[in-house]
Amino acid sequence: MTVSLDLTADTTRDSLRARIAAPAKGELIGLTREELAEALITSGVVPERQAKMRVQQLWHWLYVRGVSDFADMFNISKDLRAELAKHFTIARPEIVEEQISSDGTRKWLFRFPPRGAGRPVEIETVYIPEEGRGTLCISSQVGCTLTCSFCHTGTQKLVRNLTAEEILAQLLTARDRLGDFPDRDTPAGAIVPAEGRKVSNIVMMGMGEPLYNFEAVKKALLIASDGDGLALSKRRITLSTSGVVPEIFRTGEEIGVMLAISLHATNDDLRDLLVPINKKFPLNELMDACRKYPGLSNARRITFEYVMLKDINDSLEDAKALVKLLKGVPAKINLIPFNPWPGSNYQCSDWEQIEKFADYINQAGYASPIRTPRGRDILAACGQLKSESERLKKSERLALEAMMIAGHGEA
Ligand code: SAH
Ligand code: SF4
Repeated sequence: MTVSLDLTADTTRDSLRARIAAPAKGELIGLTREELAEALITSGVVPERQAKMRVQQLWHWLYVRGVSDFADMFNISKDLRAELAKHFTIARPEIVEEQISSDGTRKWLFRFPPRGAGRPVEIETVYIPEEGRGTLCISSQVGCTLTCSFCHTGTQKLVRNLTAEEILAQLLTARDRLGDFPDRDTPAGAIVPAEGRKVSNIVMMGMGEPLYNFEAVKKALLIASDGDGLALSKRRITLSTSGVVPEIFRTGEEIGVMLAISLHATNDDLRDLLVPINKKFPLNELMDACRKYPGLSNARRITFEYVMLKDINDSLEDAKALVKLLKGVPAKINLIPFNPWPGSNYQCSDWEQIEKFADYINQAGYASPIRTPRGRDILAACGQLKSESERLKKSERLALEAMMIAGHGEA
């Protein structure tokens, strides 16, 4: 049988190019130590008796020193470095775009090579510098299968899950760009915390639902928190879920990071509309899973995210219902002013109303910081992320800017 390809069709050319560009070499980033040893041995690059030592060396270069080229691994012989480079890759993804907001927030658009017969994919990662900390907001999927009605990412179909390597690549490349590895310089003029690590915290709050990509997210976060490598404390890693109840216990048990729940409503009728996964896992099941979250205590609270939608979920009645719902759960409440996007059917609550809401829950004993919108001028705020393929047309961008000026007095 012969197959004919119409090379004049853009789609065919693109998919062909994608396959030709597919990495034939094995990825080393994102492998567990055992998998790394296995890869080195089965490729014939390292004899079995040396595997443990080589894994230790590689782990240090990859995750402590942050090198992305075997040639920089000075304590490994030249011949072995060449062999490694022949069989494996540790290259960073392509940075399609880096945008820097006036408030120092950075947004990167990364392109990852195709997996199998797929196409290259693009995702966004956001860095938010604050006094005393720098938070990296990492994506777990390209698009999202869920369709929360206030979320921009939710309007983009799921393209695919990211691999553990791609999840870690976001952290490694951000640290490259910020000069956050030993012996690297931070770019002049960059806004970063005055002391300590430039990326001190991670939040799995970018594109996608991390608990629908559990295995890859778990692998990546265990490597990010490995004490001999990237060494981020698990207390500084927060995984946000829309409420995939069956995976919540495992998240605590197997990953051990901090949990955030995208709550947004205090009754099932409204939550069904805002966060449709609620129809599958309603509030009583979600709250039950939260109460059973391993390691939960007053020192290790669950963060409940609550997006402030004008006249939808922002009344004092809602604040009361929220306090009632969370009774007995060690909790922090994070109020997120709604970030508008073109075509969205909601408005952000008035500032005064947000403050009233915050005051009520504060008085009930909950810390309730209002998340200051960051990076709005580069569409880097919560729920505004989308891939390059779906980026805004100029007219949409202008409409968005107009909305932001109207709604918040800032562009
Ligand atoms: N899918 C996961 C993590 C990514 S979303 C989740 O839903 O939890 C990260 C946070 O941003 C969630 O709390 C989400 O509800 C919130 N969010 C989404 N769109 C938003 C918008 N337009 N304005 C403000 N917050 C938004
Ligand atoms: Fe997906 Fe989270 Fe957006 Fe809902 S809020 S559509 S789960 S990314």
